[in-house]
Amino acid sequence: MRMLKLAIQKNGRLSEQSLELLRTCGIRLSNGDRKLRAASTNFPLEVLFLRDDDIPQYVEQGVADIGILGKNEVLEKARKVEMLDQLGFAACRLSLAIPREESYAGPAYFNGKRVATSYPRILQRFFAEQQIEAEIEEIGGSVEIAPGIGLADGIFDIVSTGSTLLMNGLKEVETVLCSEAVLIATPGIASEPLALLEQLRFRIRAAQNAVIHKYILLNAPDTALEEICSLIPGMKSPTILPLAREGWSSIHSVVGEDVFWEVTGQLKRAGAEGILVVPIEKMIL
Ligand code: ATP
Ligand code: MG
Repeated sequence: MRMLKLAIQKNGRLSEQSLELLRTCGIRLSNGDRKLRAASTNFPLEVLFLRDDDIPQYVEQGVADIGILGKNEVLEKARKVEMLDQLGFAACRLSLAIPREESYAGPAYFNGKRVATSYPRILQRFFAEQQIEAEIEEIGGSVEIAPGIGLADGIFDIVSTGSTLLMNGLKEVETVLCSEAVLIATPGIASEPLALLEQLRFRIRAAQNAVIHKYILLNAPDTALEEICSLIPGMKSPTILPLAREGWSSIHSVVGEDVFWEVTGQLKRAGAEGILVVPIEKMIL
């Protein structure tokens, strides 16, 4: 049977979390140490470990059916691949930065300026949209030192916390792209790996839903049931179980992490007691 071939980063910021994603999907790999390839022992999946720069090309050519890498890298390489899902890790942004002491009034600042970057294609597109005539200096790495050594007036690079910029006397002035890890696939992927891909995506969604939801249990007087049920409607409806104590019930439901604190406050005001919140392992909608 034809296996599904997945390319992930061999060594870098995406490696650990890509493997972690497979683990949360219940997929075990044969050899833990990072060789060039590894097969799963319990899912028809083969994992190829590559430099992230090479993943779009391998996926375009079908050497790998799917890949996990930063959206920034997918857009920069501009290979013919399909972007399927955002995976919710390795968040960062691609931003323009200039020396801290410069005053900045808008993108027109960059007219006639030289900007160093490892992402020339994305930057080119941004400047074209903004009708800015600037010179793009493509360099492989350590972009943040370019202004200090006189190579450029500004830089266009990955920012996550901004501390690297600060250390190099730079300030972020435009965010051009927000990125995170994404799942990409060969366009027109064959039907056999496609069926496996859909199984994998199903598991990824179940794991992602679990992370953003909590299971909530609480006790409440029966008089408050109606109000409480409307606060935590759950997937279909909450479960209500009578307590041994007359006039009281236990209510079980699911609540989104984003509204969790707000909802617990409302529940307490409505009369809820003994609220327990439990993580969910998998959630299939
Ligand atoms: P490779 O050797 O595989 O080419 P790399 O040096 O190009 O690795 P990493 O530095 O490991 O790449 O980053 C991989 C991806 O992680 C980036 O393309 C980006 O999408 C994401 N990322 C998230 N936060 C950061 C950050 N603070 N700095 C750099 N990349 C980040
Ligand atoms: Mg790289």
